[in-house]
Amino acid sequence: MGMKKYIYAFHEGNKEMKSLLGGKGANLAEMTKIGLPVPPGFTVTTEACNKYYEDDKKISQEIIDEVFNNLHELEEKIQKKFGDIENPLLVSVRSGAVISMPGMMDTILNLGLNDESVVGLAKATGNERFAYDSYRRFIQMFSDVVLNIQKYKFDHILEKEKELSKAQLDTDLTVENLKNIIKEYKTIVKKETRKEFPQGPKDQLLMAIEAVFDSWNNARAIVYREINDIPSHYGTAVNVQSMVFGNMGDTSGTGVAFTRNPATGEKKMFGEFLMNAQGEDVVAGIRTPQPIRELKNTMPKVYEQFVNVANLLETHYKDMQDIEFTIEKGRLYLLQTRNGKRTAAAAINVAVDMVGEGIIDKEVAVMRIEPTQLDQLLHPTFEKEAMEKIEKITQGLPASPGAATGKIYFNANDVVKAANEGERAILVRLETSPEDIEGMVSAQGILTARGGMTSHAAVVARGMGKCCVAGCGEIKVDEMNKVFKVDGKIFKEGDYISLDGNTGNVYGGKLPTKEPELSGNFAKLMSWADEIRTLKIRTNADTPRDALTAVKFGAEGIGLCRTEHMFFEEERIPAVRQMIVAQNVEERMEALNKLLPFQKNDFVGIFKAMGEKPVTVRLLDPPLHEFLPNNDDDIKILSEQIKVSYSTLKEIVEDLKEFNPMLGHRGCRLAITYPEIYEMQVRAIIMAAIEVKKEENIHIQPEIMVPLIGHEKELKIIKELIVKTADKVIEESSADLVYKIGTMIEVPRAALTADDIAKHAEFFSFGTNDLTQMTYAFSRDDAGRFIGEYRKKEIFEKDPFQRLDQNGVGKLMEIAVQLGRKTRTNIKLGICGEHGGDPESIDFCHRIGLEYVSCSPYRVPIARLAAAHSAIKNK
Ligand code: PEP
Ligand code: MG
Repeated sequence: MGMKKYIYAFHEGNKEMKSLLGGKGANLAEMTKIGLPVPPGFTVTTEACNKYYEDDKKISQEIIDEVFNNLHELEEKIQKKFGDIENPLLVSVRSGAVISMPGMMDTILNLGLNDESVVGLAKATGNERFAYDSYRRFIQMFSDVVLNIQKYKFDHILEKEKELSKAQLDTDLTVENLKNIIKEYKTIVKKETRKEFPQGPKDQLLMAIEAVFDSWNNARAIVYREINDIPSHYGTAVNVQSMVFGNMGDTSGTGVAFTRNPATGEKKMFGEFLMNAQGEDVVAGIRTPQPIRELKNTMPKVYEQFVNVANLLETHYKDMQDIEFTIEKGRLYLLQTRNGKRTAAAAINVAVDMVGEGIIDKEVAVMRIEPTQLDQLLHPTFEKEAMEKIEKITQGLPASPGAATGKIYFNANDVVKAANEGERAILVRLETSPEDIEGMVSAQGILTARGGMTSHAAVVARGMGKCCVAGCGEIKVDEMNKVFKVDGKIFKEGDYISLDGNTGNVYGGKLPTKEPELSGNFAKLMSWADEIRTLKIRTNADTPRDALTAVKFGAEGIGLCRTEHMFFEEERIPAVRQMIVAQNVEERMEALNKLLPFQKNDFVGIFKAMGEKPVTVRLLDPPLHEFLPNNDDDIKILSEQIKVSYSTLKEIVEDLKEFNPMLGHRGCRLAITYPEIYEMQVRAIIMAAIEVKKEENIHIQPEIMVPLIGHEKELKIIKELIVKTADKVIEESSADLVYKIGTMIEVPRAALTADDIAKHAEFFSFGTNDLTQMTYAFSRDDAGRFIGEYRKKEIFEKDPFQRLDQNGVGKLMEIAVQLGRKTRTNIKLGICGEHGGDPESIDFCHRIGLEYVSCSPYRVPIARLAAAHSAIKNK
């Protein structure tokens, strides 16, 4: 057996090798292949990372040998030696996961420098200052990333030296200053690690590779993977690349640029650069960079070359690119290209534009948008009128669009805490770093004082679709004391502000928001998705307002109208309670007769909102005690209202309590014991349908759905009741109306006996909330207590109440589909559990042949797009 290859030189790979070389490595290889100026290097594969973990976090000798062989080849290639005292080879070591994880992994530059090779670097470049500046950066970065010494321990040394020598900028520091700094840095390393700073370049290299492997499992990376659904077994690759220097004087520099605007999608190069600076200076947001178009004035030739390369890369990859480059003494080098992260709005605009430009077709365009990303576009923006009335307090960069109103907090922990208490929180920082990621997730929006459009805050916020205003230089943030000042005004922790991520405006106080709209390119892309998909999309809506919102978002019907919510409204709850505590049929009928007109009006509103689209109304489902008062004061009030003595009422309330209400007297069981309830609801539905049908002269399609069926005879009895009641109403009003009767499949026994159940049902709708609850025997109300731990221990990748458990619950669904069709070939099949809005679960529904999925109104566009993805993927 031949030896496994764990390392690929850049000239050996290509862009298809992402899973092995990571995104960065594969693209460096591809750029090398197509002849672009990439400094040579090699990639240690993701398999080497996985082997490192298999070998108990040790780099095996086999891999070490391969590293040094490749290093040797690199030395030959560029005619420099590692650790040389004349002209040393220096390398960068950077992580490169399969799916890019910005800010999550760490970079080391200038590796190979030590007390001797720094002299060599000074000689070779004729620039002593540059050499010592590089060494100082290297010690700091290596100490942070590899030796785990916190960054701030070094910061004050540089500041102190600057103060002592009256230097304004880092670039004003002299060689002597830098030597002092290096000496002090090394003292810190000695103190913190009880060892000298490692001087052997090969040791440095192996330690760095190990650190990158380790960082795959640091807390930030784990959080990022969780949020973005990236499996932990992917591992990361490590790229070792010969250094080029952006900090070699005024004809050197470094930058990042997108081929189009990542916030809006506009077809215009977008980016920033800094002259005489190295790598991370731009991203870290410490010095404020210049817009990329300024490069045209600074270095016209290089600018032109860069524009050509950028265009070439975009055409080559057929997608918007995010490019990192360095200019060393007037020569351009490319350090990275990748498909640029973008907001949902930008993603849509770029995809639609690229179809227009003939670069991609409609299917590719549809596939380019992640369904869940649309969530960003389905959230409110500020009302124009309100915004015009109020003065902004300041303005920063519009780093990530959206509107956010909330209370301000000055660190990630406080934001998380506030959000957990139900507050809308805004994270305010000088600048963000990867440590802030959890706070950013919980925040409504992010405001930073420093940093540009490609700062950490901006990049991460755009990826999350979170509103962000960055680089707001006018605000003076005091993170310690939890206040910021602007223009003489003070904002303390807990004060309200509002951020407009589209303009960069910051407002004091709360601003009202307005509902989003589906128009322009968004509507166009959705229409392409509609042409492609075969699944229909319905919505879960209980009110005419929700129904209208859903229709606006493209819902083709209501898949679930839960009638119990209507029972909770203030003016009718007394009648509901009277119905529940009724001691005999007459009393119950009296209360139900009071409720009937209310229910009828509810349904009139819903039928009007939906017009000719089908509407599935589910008959009452929850246990009755949910409607009753549960404290003595409220029981007293009710006893007066309905004229039942306090003690009797209290007894009734006690009596209705159940040990396991979720498995108790609920769903169709209510109608088996009290048929009058469903009778009233059916009358209301049919009367409303007839009324709207007559009034609007349209075809109304009511579908009456029975919940929680487990045995066919339950349905048989209830169906007879429905038919009898409905037909009587129709006859009495001498109307003609076609209605359907069906059931939810949400009890495992119903799925297993679906052939019998289908005898009495024209449609099935999978209630996967209950079906998950009952298949796993996880109480929906209590599972939150342990599901977190299940996910941590990787028993679950996702909460099964959010993503359908295809192996278990899904199997029951498949059985039900098959058995249901056996009895009734044309049985109508859909899903109305929460999973109907989850793209992966939607894909499953597509594959098992459901006719529709039903989800909450705001998820309708997501479901439309997800259904299109399924149609394309499963062609
Ligand atoms: C379900 O159980 O999946 C369902 C849609 O009904 P509910 O959530 O109201 O129990
Ligand atoms: Mg249910």
